[in-house]
Amino acid sequence: MDEVECVVAGAGVVGLAIARALAQAGREVIVLEEAETVGTVTSARNSEVIHAGIYYRAGSLMAELCVRGKRALYAYCADHGVPHRNCGKLIVATTAHEAERLAAIRAHAEANGVDDLQALSGPEAQALEPSLACVAALLSPSTGIIDSHGYMLALRGDAEEAGAAFAFHSPLLNARKTDDGFALDVGGADPMTLGCRLLINAAGHGAPALARAIDAMPTDQVPSGYYAKGNYFSCSTRAPFSRLIYPVPEPGGLGVHLTLDLAGQARFGPDVEWVETMDYEVDPARSARFYPAIRKYWPELPDGALQPAYSGIRPKIVPPAVAVQDFVIQGPQQHGVGGLINLFGIESPGLTASLAIADHVAALAS
Ligand SMILES: Cc1cc2nc3c(=O)[nH]c(=O)nc-3n(C[C@H](O)[C@H](O)[C@H](O)COP(=O)(O)OP(=O)(O)OC[C@H]3O[C@@H](n4cnc5c(N)ncnc54)[C@H](O)[C@@H]3O)c2cc1C
Repeated sequence: MDEVECVVAGAGVVGLAIARALAQAGREVIVLEEAETVGTVTSARNSEVIHAGIYYRAGSLMAELCVRGKRALYAYCADHGVPHRNCGKLIVATTAHEAERLAAIRAHAEANGVDDLQALSGPEAQALEPSLACVAALLSPSTGIIDSHGYMLALRGDAEEAGAAFAFHSPLLNARKTDDGFALDVGGADPMTLGCRLLINAAGHGAPALARAIDAMPTDQVPSGYYAKGNYFSCSTRAPFSRLIYPVPEPGGLGVHLTLDLAGQARFGPDVEWVETMDYEVDPARSARFYPAIRKYWPELPDGALQPAYSGIRPKIVPPAVAVQDFVIQGPQQHGVGGLINLFGIESPGLTASLAIADHVAALAS
């Protein structure tokens, strides 16, 4: 049986960041990925927003790792020439009732270490974005956008330069505990058994199933996975905004917001649709809910401008009735299995937080 020190299962943005951190710390790393290349699942189907860290529950891993990850990500992009833009975002209140909630959002953000939000009057917000309709707003200067594929290629390059190896078309099927690590059954065209001392389960939607296929892993510590699809619509006319525009959040979601890609193309979404299967088709009929929501802050949105674009599926570990979840990153202290780290429920802001998640995992693994 071939032996390697560390195996990372999953080459999404999180697995890549972890592989880079471990390899740069001098550890021998193989990344097993069932798809043909890096970042083809959730990491390829998101809003590509560098989140500020405003809304997450104070004290949660999401809040902590988002704020730390955001700083690290801006520095990384600048160092590595990864395309990104620190464009900022406006949270817009379109009624007096919503305006009253902005102060609480600002206080919550401050508790998370996001202390740069600026309160704007309606006219001040409109001076920044003349097509915007709102009575008040919060400006988040540290929000931005990133070329997530460029970022993942840079992470892969760093990891390989530090000696990490990648095996594609190589699903990790199961693991058996051995005296000093694990024996892994790897499937694909060239099935093999591989020994490792440290196993990182960064398999995204596949993480709960993979954890259950590790013989020593207590199954009561493995959450169930749920799918919360987010549908996007693109805008066939050029939207007249240079910042991201978010309504005041509503119970259960962030509302229909406008994000931009680096070419300035606007997209709206993601909404929330709980589904049973990984089906990425966008139902054009869902645009009926988007038009009135968007016109609250952009009254000029033309009829027929919204086109189905793409969707992503959030790797939930709580059912629909439970509104909030946190990242779950389990090391031996949590589950009692030496040499195993599981990552569950790495939904948004996982892209923003990826470098901080990697540092967190590397610390657990040291
Ligand atoms: C709609 C939507 C919008 C989002 N928007 C943002 C945003 O704007 N900003 C932000 O910060 N975050 C955002 N996110 C969150 C972000 O996309 C995710 O947190 C991040 O991509 C998760 O990366 P990952 O590596 O954990 O998972 P994935 O990208 O899903 O990677 C997991 C990998 O594991 C592989 N795999 C699975 N099982 C196995 C196995 N048994 N063996 C080997 N390989 C396996 C898969 O093929 C996959 O490549 C969004 C998410 C969604 C769904």
